[in-house]
Amino acid sequence: MQVNDVVAYIQADRDRFVADLKEWLAIPSISGDPAHAEDVRTSAGWLAEYLRGQGFPTVEVWDTPGLPAVFAEWPAEDPDAPSVVVYGHHDVQPVEPLEEWETDPFKPVEKGDRLIGRGASDDKGQVFFHTLGIRAALAASGRQAPPVTIKLLVEGEEESGSVHFADLLRTHRDRLACDAVVISDTTMWSADVPSMCTGMRGLAEAEVTLRGPDGDLHSGSFGGAVPNPLHAMASLLAALHDEDGRVAVPGFYDDVVPLTDEERELFARLPFDEGEWLRTAGNSRAAHGEKGYTTLERVWARPTAEINGMWGGHTGPGGKTIVPREAHAKISFRLAAGQDPRKVQEQFRAWVAEQAPAGVEAEVRVPGGGVRPCFSPIDSPGVKAARRAMERAFGGDVLFTREGGSGPEADLADILDAPLVFVAVGLDGDRIHAPNEKVEIPLLLKGAEAAAYLWEELATALR
Ligand SMILES: [Zn+2]
Repeated sequence: MQVNDVVAYIQADRDRFVADLKEWLAIPSISGDPAHAEDVRTSAGWLAEYLRGQGFPTVEVWDTPGLPAVFAEWPAEDPDAPSVVVYGHHDVQPVEPLEEWETDPFKPVEKGDRLIGRGASDDKGQVFFHTLGIRAALAASGRQAPPVTIKLLVEGEEESGSVHFADLLRTHRDRLACDAVVISDTTMWSADVPSMCTGMRGLAEAEVTLRGPDGDLHSGSFGGAVPNPLHAMASLLAALHDEDGRVAVPGFYDDVVPLTDEERELFARLPFDEGEWLRTAGNSRAAHGEKGYTTLERVWARPTAEINGMWGGHTGPGGKTIVPREAHAKISFRLAAGQDPRKVQEQFRAWVAEQAPAGVEAEVRVPGGGVRPCFSPIDSPGVKAARRAMERAFGGDVLFTREGGSGPEADLADILDAPLVFVAVGLDGDRIHAPNEKVEIPLLLKGAEAAAYLWEELATALR
């Protein structure tokens, strides 16, 4: 394939691409608002029709007990070629506060190189660059079918918690069978520092109750002679980290995939300004965390324990001299690659039982099974192939990032049993989930270009 052919095709197609995307963005597919459920269905129908027009031989709207996803498949010419699922979502976030929008969120407008409207970056724009990428790749190769079987899966409930997504994946597991999953729903470091995400942290939660006497006690009559559950809770939570900022729960780090020297070196090459970052961290006055790791390593690749809330005893006005009967705390763990939320919850439960002093009964409740982390090693075939495609499109080095939070990506990796590859061109400055969401059109076109190269790179890498 001649690079110039792909580039020329994309340039020639730019206006049509933007016009079509604007039509889709005008549909207010807000999944979190029941009043917009019909709009989410309209959005799915619009996309299905569009993909049929693009030449996808199979296009289906997949219903769920909630809102529909769109599935489209374009088989490779070669029946032995690898299959790749491409994941994105067509639902969007609510638009409140409406008065902060400078333009109507669902009347997308172009201002210079920017396209402004809800969903422009998250995630309709990023789903859409794949359609242009496929067109450009086919036009440039002169072929009728891509070099890998492409299975586009565009969810309709991502912004409202992906409640039916795991079931959808299980129901259609056979049709979604694949050798890799390309995720296009993340961001790059910046417009001039292209990067790829290689993982997301998982999540495990727990709530601790410590119980002492049957009721609150008079501290004059009993204080100092029976255990105080709030003191026990304070000791317990104080012991959660050691002096190096490491989580003290035995076994907690056993399964953590360590950062490689290469990944640390690549993270260190990102132009990171800690002072600026601290301002985004609610004007925190100092960085803090596990000894021996940088701030980016701490939020991307290391697990944590956070106390989210603690309460008990008398917190109303005035004094009340009691030994309280109970103490409560909510704890959450962000999990790094390799950790299992259920295992962490059990390790925590065992640790709490061991820490509780005589006379204090400890109960640990876990709300659900948490979220598994997901991670793709930077030297895995899929990541290397996608990095080559990105480097061809952006004409230079592509670095790596991870994300500190979690989404439905781990379900894709686990249920489809395939490695994840993140190819995305959103920016942290795109104001996703906020008023005046925008996307940089030149980056969407670069995304289309990377997507155009991706299929042949993956065809070779995944064989
Ligand atoms: Zn998104």
